[in-house]
Amino acid sequence: MGSCKCPQDDHGHEDDLNPQCKHVFNGPIIVGAGPSGLAAAACLLEHGVPSLILERSDCIASLWQHRTYDRLKLHLPKDFCELPYRKFPEDYPKYPTKHQFVAYMESYAAHFSIRPLFNQTVLAARFKDGQWRLRTAADHEYVSPWLIIATGENADPVIPDIAGLDKFGGKIIHTSSYKSGSDYQNQRVLVVGCGNSGMEVSLDLCRHNVLPHMVVRNTVHVLPREVLGLSTFGIAMALLKWFPLKLVDKFLLFAASMTLGNTDHFGLRRPKTGPLELKNVTGKTPVLDTGALSQIKAGKIKVMEGVKEITKNGAKFVDGQEKEFDSIILATGYKSNVTSWLKSGEFFTKEGMPKVPFPNGWKGDNGLYTVGFTSRGILGTSCDAIKIAQDIADQWRAITNQQSPKFSLIPTSSS
Ligand SMILES: Cc1cc2nc3c(=O)[nH]c(=O)nc-3n(C[C@H](O)[C@H](O)[C@H](O)COP(=O)(O)OP(=O)(O)OC[C@H]3O[C@@H](n4cnc5c(N)ncnc54)[C@H](O)[C@@H]3O)c2cc1C
Repeated sequence: MGSCKCPQDDHGHEDDLNPQCKHVFNGPIIVGAGPSGLAAAACLLEHGVPSLILERSDCIASLWQHRTYDRLKLHLPKDFCELPYRKFPEDYPKYPTKHQFVAYMESYAAHFSIRPLFNQTVLAARFKDGQWRLRTAADHEYVSPWLIIATGENADPVIPDIAGLDKFGGKIIHTSSYKSGSDYQNQRVLVVGCGNSGMEVSLDLCRHNVLPHMVVRNTVHVLPREVLGLSTFGIAMALLKWFPLKLVDKFLLFAASMTLGNTDHFGLRRPKTGPLELKNVTGKTPVLDTGALSQIKAGKIKVMEGVKEITKNGAKFVDGQEKEFDSIILATGYKSNVTSWLKSGEFFTKEGMPKVPFPNGWKGDNGLYTVGFTSRGILGTSCDAIKIAQDIADQWRAITNQQSPKFSLIPTSSS
């Protein structure tokens, strides 16, 4: 029942998007072929519902393949990062490398025969006349009764507004373009930001004999990745089943002070609010230490207070120091891009996150769904994908009982 219409057979059609080519699909359309898009497609297939994935990049899991550093491993143990219906291979370590994670997702897509349409950046999506109409950069229009948004919380890098940044004479990159410390040997490097990425990039620079200066402007919770050989995240998840969040926070802070000491002494001031409560309220993820803290203690990563101004050759800091740098790495995080292209409804905040928080933010009006906007990583993705598939399958069965459709994937082009 998929169909493709081109302007020559559809002159003067009704939509103001005026596409070059129109594809009508009566299964759900998923935007984004990251873990969330793949999970949604797989869960739908388990219910016998075909879907179509539009992906702006040239591969699945493009964040992991194109926008992460070489040394990256999963931050959380593999048990918390599995997609529905497929376990990681037995021989994977507790914290798989990014290459292993990508291989897992490749085999996931192959297992379910998921074949996204690549190089399809969705520029606009509108709900009109009972259908979602998506326009891509290639000026094609895709039409479906259901739209599943899987473009992720990390769609675009955040570039901070720092005075003088445009005057800097050296190289400036965001961590999404950082690959390895080997590119920075013998350089003076300023890392702006101290979240998981800022800490790990600084650590990677250290391991390549670079002495990074890391800017810590705000308070930050640093937690040990493991306590007595058990994942801190796993312990927190288990405790939350039995104890209130504030009590679990107290336990985490106790465990952190026992294993890491008082991080305030090293310029990493803790927020007053506990790590889990802060995550719930602001979405700010605690840093799980993978070794950066010991390098900070050893003076091999220099912690700096906020930047006052970037100069042609370096930076002036709020404490009055001034230093020269060859490169600046912005570890300033990512943001959702949904509000830039979703033109209908009021489901999202201006930051591009569902207004209704987890676990209820997966479903909007008029056949709109979101997967992976939970601030809970792949664990949240799996919860969303399972619920979405069940919900759409119920509607699908009602329709197919009446129509008995045959589905085929839509060609990317009519020609
Ligand atoms: C360095 C790093 C480490 C992480 N480690 C973990 C971890 O260990 N465990 C964990 O659970 N989570 C981790 N995360 C969070 C992680 O991003 C997610 O769990 C996971 O990648 C989210 O998958 P997603 O499919 O929702 O988003 P993404 O992986 O970002 O995929 C979204 C896809 O949508 C595409 N897209 C975006 N906009 C458009 C558009 N307009 N049109 C078409 N396609 C579009 C993108 O190209 C992308 O391929 C980590 C994140 C980072 C940055």
